[in-house]
Amino acid sequence: MKRKGSIFLKSPREIRAMARSGAIIADLFRELKPMVRPGVSTGELDRFAEDFIRSHSGAVPAFKGLYGFPGSVCASVNAQVVHGIPSRGTRLRDGDIVSIDVGVRRRGWCADSAFTFPVGEISATAARLLEVTRMALDMAVSAARAGGHVGDIGAVVERCVRDTRLSIVRDLVGHGVGRSIHEDPQVANVGRRGSGEPLRAGMALAIEPMLSAGTDAIVTLPDRWTVVTADGSLSAHFEHTVAIAAAGPEILTGGGIWDEPVAVEGVARRGAAELAEAVGTTATVPQ
Ligand code: MG
Ligand code: MG
Repeated sequence: MKRKGSIFLKSPREIRAMARSGAIIADLFRELKPMVRPGVSTGELDRFAEDFIRSHSGAVPAFKGLYGFPGSVCASVNAQVVHGIPSRGTRLRDGDIVSIDVGVRRRGWCADSAFTFPVGEISATAARLLEVTRMALDMAVSAARAGGHVGDIGAVVERCVRDTRLSIVRDLVGHGVGRSIHEDPQVANVGRRGSGEPLRAGMALAIEPMLSAGTDAIVTLPDRWTVVTADGSLSAHFEHTVAIAAAGPEILTGGGIWDEPVAVEGVARRGAAELAEAVGTTATVPQ
């Protein structure tokens, strides 16, 4: 691991170690998907996730105890953007969306990934929010190339969201990842192409657009963890750990449910026109 300023560059072997952590998260999401149903509590999901992660030799949930966080995963429901504390008292209901954010450290190397799951049948607005946030992640990942700049990533997220009524939660950012869950640089979801830290081969970044169906303003609840949209509107969060290789970006947390079609159940029946009307977009509905 080489240091470039405050940024640690990883060797191919170190990137492979991070990919092992990333694969555990992708496998966990595949296991969680059928469990995310009306009636399940976020505490039950957290318990399952912790046991699943620890069942892999040398792996621990990296968020547990990080800055004092009590859960193994963050489970953020509806207006909760990030850092929702899992609880047996928080039962998911039909029509909810829940963002599950997971960090795994295995033999000293971390990966960080988040996925927003629909619970049962969700509204057209919620479906569109998930779809656009997911598209923003995919496009942001493709912008993470050696020779580019961190600002390229935020610029792409902005472009994805520009023609929608959705907002970028700009006060929350992605980050470098490696030995620690949070390393330099910060990876904003807004930016200007060609600005910011140069991107180099060997960098590993957690790229994580967070969008809201209403305001971009956020508030932290009195529990001092849970971040919610200030107007109570829905929020979605998708995140990959990405290594910048000479040949291009390499997703270390992909596979499993990430390979499934983006469109969520129930959306096709509503139709693209109604979706577009619901969120006022002029963008093409991605397939
Ligand atoms: Mg995360
Ligand atoms: Mg992260």
